[in-house]
Amino acid sequence: MPFVYFDYTYIVLIPAIILALYAQIKLSSTYNKYSKIGNSRGLTGADVARMILDANGLWDVKIQHISGKLTDNYNPQTNVVSLSDSTYSSTSVAALGVAAHECGHAVQHATGYLPIKIRSALVAITPLGTKAGFILILIGLIFSTPNLALIGLALYSLIAVFQFVTLPVEFNASNRALETLRIDNILDDDELPYAKKVLSAAAMTYVAALVSSIAEIFRLLLIINNSRRRN
Ligand SMILES: [Zn+2]
Repeated sequence: MPFVYFDYTYIVLIPAIILALYAQIKLSSTYNKYSKIGNSRGLTGADVARMILDANGLWDVKIQHISGKLTDNYNPQTNVVSLSDSTYSSTSVAALGVAAHECGHAVQHATGYLPIKIRSALVAITPLGTKAGFILILIGLIFSTPNLALIGLALYSLIAVFQFVTLPVEFNASNRALETLRIDNILDDDELPYAKKVLSAAAMTYVAALVSSIAEIFRLLLIINNSRRRN
């Protein structure tokens, strides 16, 4: 039972785990630092979100206040930008960066940005694909049919495709955010690099998630190959 016992294939996960930990710590520390620095215009995250949405003609996109920290998101189904406790009424440069980033997703959706369309399509099928894939891998390993396990692994790999498509969506939303914050004079030249640092740290967590998935897929491939050799 390769899933139960510790085996050497776990080693391939170690760099990915270190990267994920680093990205999480980096985001936490960067966010904490710049959530204490207020913007010179005294605008809140919600103010800025409304300004950006209106400037892009997205008057119909609603903004809501949700609980939590860094739980901010844009939902293309409901067309709502949700800003967390630490963003909605905060005047920090970090909050403004995050609010502008979420509005960037709303603009992507409104302008038909291709990667967000692909991502939205994958949102529905990815959890199903990875679950079915994992079950097929298990069955393939238990009944010594490596080819079935490989088919399962291909399905399971949808998670990495999803995370890969997420990267341009996230990077583009951050670029749009920084561009808007600059052009509309929401943040001044001293404040902009702070917002950029927060958004770059957030983007790093998406890269780390993809690397983790690739490492996990590689590990499963090793396990399947080992089982083939044993047969
Ligand atoms: Zn985002």
